[in-house]
Amino acid sequence: MTHILDWEAALAIYGADLAPARNSLSEATQATFCLFASTALAGGGIGMTSRGGDHAECRLIASNFWPHIEQAMSRSDAAGKSLSFLLAINRTPCARCARVLAGALQDVRSKYPSASKHEFVMAALGYYQGKAFMREAEMSPFARLKRFPAPSQKGDPDLRYSDSVTTDRGLREMINVGWKCRVLTFGDMTPRGAEYLNFLASH
Ligand SMILES: [Zn+2]
Repeated sequence: MTHILDWEAALAIYGADLAPARNSLSEATQATFCLFASTALAGGGIGMTSRGGDHAECRLIASNFWPHIEQAMSRSDAAGKSLSFLLAINRTPCARCARVLAGALQDVRSKYPSASKHEFVMAALGYYQGKAFMREAEMSPFARLKRFPAPSQKGDPDLRYSDSVTTDRGLREMINVGWKCRVLTFGDMTPRGAEYLNFLASH
């Protein structure tokens, strides 16, 4: 199915050197992990974990990795080839990170008209939505405070709305600027992977 990227297929496309990232990507732990790879970059890709409340994918975007993309694109343009870039994450980006990722791709596309020839794939293990992602009772009081600084007082008291969970709107922003969103599977699909697939299938 087109909305799914299985890990074995990812290794075939982006290189077997990515294999060590399997453990970090295949578990939806509270710490986020992302891996950036491309058909043009040799080696094991660029891995990033969350730190100090900043999610892995935002830290990646803020890091100095864009020159790799720019160099890879200019080399492939000269050779008349098109590339595929992969951002794999152990859960879908939160609303805030989705906005950053959408903006980053938009920037690349406005700076490099040829970028539209290349593919940008975001593959995530499962849908990350607060309570659906992790029951509040499973979280430490500290994590609860950090994750939900402004709990909603209305409606379902367990359902907190925050910028720090995935929203349909955030994912749509990414899709609209050209990110190809995929469910990352490791043979089996997780229940939250199925939720994410539902979203993709209807957009
Ligand atoms: Zn985030």
